[in-house]
This record gives sequence, structure tokens and C-alpha cells, in this order.
Amino acid sequence: MDRVEALITRLAPVPICDECIVERLHLAALHQASQRTRELAGQRGYERTTAECATCGQPKSVVRRCRR
Ligand SMILES: [Zn+2]
Repeated sequence: MDRVEALITRLAPVPICDECIVERLHLAALHQASQRTRELAGQRGYERTTAECATCGQPKSVVRRCRR
């Protein structure tokens, strides 16, 4: 499990946007987060949707871990 996945899992079922992932993990670039969240969204147990990010409060493209 990488840091992006670990963060999303820790926050579950609360959604987080790519920008906040970058900020929380001190990543160098936004695409590092968005690439990983898109990968995760294709996997079972994760969903990517447009919703209010729980961290910044903005309506954005967020990812969250859903219950199985
Ligand atoms: Zn956010």
C-alpha cells in the first residue's frame, strides 16, 4: 500500500480531493496524486466522484474508500 492509498483508507468513508492529497502528503506535483487516485478508482472498494471534499470543503473531484 502506498501513501496515497494509506491516506484514503485512513480517512474512509470521508472523501478527499487530489489537491488535498498533495498537501497532506507533501507531494511535488498534482499529477502524482491524480494519477494514483484514478488508478484506485478503477479498483474495487474505491470510487471517484464529484462531491464536497471533507478537507477543503470545495466541490471537487474526490476519491473515497467505500465499504464492501
Ligand atoms: Zn480538498
